[in-house]
Amino acid sequence: MTDAVVVGSGPNGLAAALTLARAGLTVEVFEAHERVGGGLRTEPLFDSEVVHDICAAVHPMAPVSPFMKTLDLEAHGVRLLRSPAAYAHPLKGGRAAIAWHDLETTCAELGRDGRRWRHLMLPLAERSGAVVDLMLSAQRTLPFSRALPVLASRLTAPALRAGGGLRTEAARALLTGVAAHGVGPIPSLATAAVALLLGHLAHTTGWPVPEGGSGAVAAVMVAHLEALGGRIHTGVRVNDLRELPARRITMLDISPRELARIAPLPRGYLRLLTRYRYGPGAAKADFLIEGSIPWTDRRLSAATTVHLGGEHGTASELAIAERATAKGRRAERPYVILVDPAAADPSRAVRGRRPVWAYAHVPHDDTRDPLAVIRAAVETHAPGFTDTVLAERGVSAAELGAYNANYVGGDIGCGAMTLRQTLARPVPRWNPYRTPLPGTWLCSSATPPGPSVHGMCGYYAATAALAEAGRPRRADR
Ligand SMILES: Cc1cc2nc3c(=O)[nH]c(=O)nc-3n(C[C@H](O)[C@H](O)[C@H](O)COP(=O)(O)OP(=O)(O)OC[C@H]3O[C@@H](n4cnc5c(N)ncnc54)[C@H](O)[C@@H]3O)c2cc1C
Repeated sequence: MTDAVVVGSGPNGLAAALTLARAGLTVEVFEAHERVGGGLRTEPLFDSEVVHDICAAVHPMAPVSPFMKTLDLEAHGVRLLRSPAAYAHPLKGGRAAIAWHDLETTCAELGRDGRRWRHLMLPLAERSGAVVDLMLSAQRTLPFSRALPVLASRLTAPALRAGGGLRTEAARALLTGVAAHGVGPIPSLATAAVALLLGHLAHTTGWPVPEGGSGAVAAVMVAHLEALGGRIHTGVRVNDLRELPARRITMLDISPRELARIAPLPRGYLRLLTRYRYGPGAAKADFLIEGSIPWTDRRLSAATTVHLGGEHGTASELAIAERATAKGRRAERPYVILVDPAAADPSRAVRGRRPVWAYAHVPHDDTRDPLAVIRAAVETHAPGFTDTVLAERGVSAAELGAYNANYVGGDIGCGAMTLRQTLARPVPRWNPYRTPLPGTWLCSSATPPGPSVHGMCGYYAATAALAEAGRPRRADR
């Protein structure tokens, strides 16, 4: 009998598997896809030389997540590379607002909002460790944290409005573009919290990309797991938990919807799971381009991540588009996140050709190919972009949901980030990872602390399982 079985090999599944294996348990992982990694896959799409991140590309959590730190990526040859600017936002008139890694440069360029930007971000940057600990917590203790007063003072009523109480269009758009990573109506407490977390990290550890692509992170996790005797079976979609080998612990890196589908759950818990809500979808475009993106503001080439949307790129246009999307309506000019990994990692550009990745926020389960909408958004601020495109593909939200069962209807957060689902994810329970089935734990991003590549959902779930089994965890064997 194996000690533990993990279903799903995303960053949380692999984090759970590693945490159990480090404690000396035998572990087997079952993954539906032919390739391991979940949101951490990097593959050639159009030719054999240039590789593309299929899902996650930028990793603001990698340098700060307690679990990711145990991987010691750099010691395994995976450098986290930063471009001089973390993210940027082109505006009408050809000029862009830019969040430089250097806070003071950012403030200087934001003119009369520079002081307000510093007031917003500097206290968070100075207490970054405490802010990250709070936001990446398992939410199972009362948040007595020295980060709480500073966070609370920044989540005031004006800060919650679109534009965060800032006055200039550049600063308002810059902040709203980060808030929109929270995928939901703007303003809201959840999106404001996302803006503060990601916003301040831009000025501390940055928004790096792993050298060679996200797949390199998965490869380190897999090598580590296999070195500890873990086994991975790919191409196996688990349709019923009873199909799995005999084991004491089951970790599920799956969505609540999949849990309801494959597990014999008691009716009360099932009822709670059916109340779990999924959010808007992401519809993605992958481009292989020749040369670089012809941004009107050439400084945008220094940013790995660029936020686009609306006709003029204003904060209020973004907020209107995000509200429409959350209500299930297609926005004419939706919010788009574009990533140019070669801006930080020159090895991603091969003989003048580089990958560009972008996704738009669209209604849940939308079936529309996003290529035209995304190309138009880029062309507005980079005329001639289309001429640089050698190959492209569009993936609708519905297709993204079919690619990975965790992205229900294209919701890449595996559940809407509403206030309720931020605080009680996936169901209100003292231990959100525990399911009513003995030894069976949910460990996907449908549990705290939620989406993004940090591995903390898997780590917390596995730690809880080990505590119940009376096994001490070992941090970084
Ligand atoms: C287009 C896109 C862009 C993104 N960009 C970023 C980014 O830049 N930075 C960032 O931090 N995050 C990003 N994310 C989000 C990030 O990828 C996720 O938050 C993260 O991967 C969640 O990890 P997870 O382990 O919970 O689930 P996943 O990574 O989704 O892994 C779940 C795995 O479980 C498998 N599975 C599900 N059901 C079963 C079953 N029944 N049997 C067997 N296997 C099963 C799936 O095939 C999948 O491999 C992006 C996501 C997408 C889709």
